[in-house]
Amino acid sequence: MNKFEQLGLSESLLKAILDLGFENPTEVQEKAIPLLLEKDTDLVALAQTGTGKTAAFGFPVIQKIDANNRNTQALILSPTRELCLQITNELKNYSKYEKGINVVAVYGGASITEQARDIKRGAQIIVATPGRMQDMINRGLVNISQINYCILDEADEMLNMGFYEDIVNILSTTPDEKSTWLFSATMPAEVARIGKQFMTDPIEITVGTKNSGSATVSHEFYLVNARDRYEALKRLADANPDIFSVVFCRTKRDTQAVAEKLIEDGYSAAALHGDLSQAQRDGVMKSFRGRQIQMLVATDVAARGIDVDNVTHVVNYQLPDEIETYNHRSGRTGRAGKLGTSIVIVTKSELRKISSIERIIKQKFEEKTIPSGIEICEIQLLHLANKIKDTEVDHEIDNYLPAINNVLEGLSKEELIKKMVSVEFNRFIAYYKKNRDISSQSGERRERDDRDGAPRENNNGGATRYFVNIGSRDNFDWMSLKDYLKETLDLGRDDVFKVDVKEGFSFFNTDPEHTDKVMEILNNVQLEGRRINVEISKNDGGGRRDHNGRSSGAGFGGGRSSAPRREGSFAPRREGSGGFRNDRGSAPREGGFRSERSSAAPRREGGFSSDRASREGSSERAPRRSESFGDSSRPRRPRRD
Ligand code: AMP
Repeated sequence: MNKFEQLGLSESLLKAILDLGFENPTEVQEKAIPLLLEKDTDLVALAQTGTGKTAAFGFPVIQKIDANNRNTQALILSPTRELCLQITNELKNYSKYEKGINVVAVYGGASITEQARDIKRGAQIIVATPGRMQDMINRGLVNISQINYCILDEADEMLNMGFYEDIVNILSTTPDEKSTWLFSATMPAEVARIGKQFMTDPIEITVGTKNSGSATVSHEFYLVNARDRYEALKRLADANPDIFSVVFCRTKRDTQAVAEKLIEDGYSAAALHGDLSQAQRDGVMKSFRGRQIQMLVATDVAARGIDVDNVTHVVNYQLPDEIETYNHRSGRTGRAGKLGTSIVIVTKSELRKISSIERIIKQKFEEKTIPSGIEICEIQLLHLANKIKDTEVDHEIDNYLPAINNVLEGLSKEELIKKMVSVEFNRFIAYYKKNRDISSQSGERRERDDRDGAPRENNNGGATRYFVNIGSRDNFDWMSLKDYLKETLDLGRDDVFKVDVKEGFSFFNTDPEHTDKVMEILNNVQLEGRRINVEISKNDGGGRRDHNGRSSGAGFGGGRSSAPRREGSFAPRREGSGGFRNDRGSAPREGGFRSERSSAAPRREGGFSSDRASREGSSERAPRRSESFGDSSRPRRPRRD
């Protein structure tokens, strides 16, 4: 008797489990299934994705509902469409030998009428995202007043995504007597509040192993200067030629920008985030599963529930706001017994987060250094040599050998090898010869500069300083303005600095990579009906800032009269498209094997590549930013907490 048989599961479920190839229950299944089968109880289960929790609630719910009754008896709420579809599919697989059970998925971005029709035909189990479910309830398209089971899957994530009110409203329309099973990776206050409000004496279970993959995932961090983040990412990709990775960014905007830059630099990358249409997202996922995309740049929300095997690396391009989210991210690799690496690109000011994460994952990070250009060249060279060795020869080529021999006649074997490899390799050498090494040292130096208030702006490669026509008169102080700018511009914690607030105007800095974004977005937003105007300031204002953010430098004493002269050339550039401008100057888009490539970032998988995506498919596969991105540039009142 296998262990599933001891859990009290029905014959039809055991048969389905056999088909699925599950040999033994996972920890959460072992703990939850007998409990849930035995009695009607509320349950709180702390379990990560990848622990087998879908079956932990799926098997009992299928066994407990009445297949002869076509009313909706169970509602499962999940944060994303992807997860919703994944759960629906799993439940369909589990219930395939159970006659008459209908599972219907309800999610945004698809026809609500069709979903309503499916429900009307009789759906004992509905798997839904909260937003669409609320919509259907409002329109009277669904009746959940008779349900016996309500399951909140990834509750923390749903609340993270702002579904608190929807969830409360949905739960309020369900009967009090139902059983509620709440699954969550973490237990933040809001989740606990939901539990308290809607559950009675829930049984609590915690799954010890945080994640099925955790034992197989190693964790590394690379300390870099904030401005070197992207370069670091490229180097990590170059140092791992067979990388198949999910790269996490904090915002949709960064996700899109990083993916676009990677594509322009010749990597097979694509973005995955909530502003893409469903068809675009499906296309990206299909390409990723098919491994035509090597680097999937994603937001946390969009990547939830992605179950792709053989992901070699998870890259935290930026750390998540909630450190608990790190666990979800790293769980994308090291699945199914395979080894995986979770990489964090971190700046010095974020370093303390690493220790907090170590406490959560109960594993240590290894500190590593971004490989130098020489190291990368070596790796690439060996990779290329191996690729040549492993390439199967199509004997069609024999016909051309005499002509080829003619051309190459007189070259020794050694010369021939050198030349052959150089065809592909020269561009790597050329690129890395020209590009300085980036290391933690530069990060430290930069932090020191920041602390000392040393002016970095307008130096070669230094920061951009801006003048903006909002100040303390608009209820900003340096902290609230920094928050407002970061929020409006979707920038990270350290990306806006040296904020200096005066009465009617202010100054602030960003790295030059953000200049276009700042100019484009800020010049198109209004604050309480007043248009914001931002200009690049030549007058650097880089004087020291005291603890309150006040400038103590000579240049900006305080009054309006000290505002830098506005010059015509500072007039904001407005681009019709509203799209991102990438720094094409440094990384021109390349079509083929032109000689100018040597001046650009090296394109991966060039002459010897069979990876079509890197050459033709990726830019087409990576959907462009949609207009709705502009939404995030709407001004919000500064927070005053
Ligand atoms: P989940 O945490 O529900 O997303 O499950 C993660 C993955 O583990 C899914 O691909 C499941 O099909 C698989 N899985 C669930 N339970 C078991 C089990 N007992 N044995 C093997 N694989 C499982």
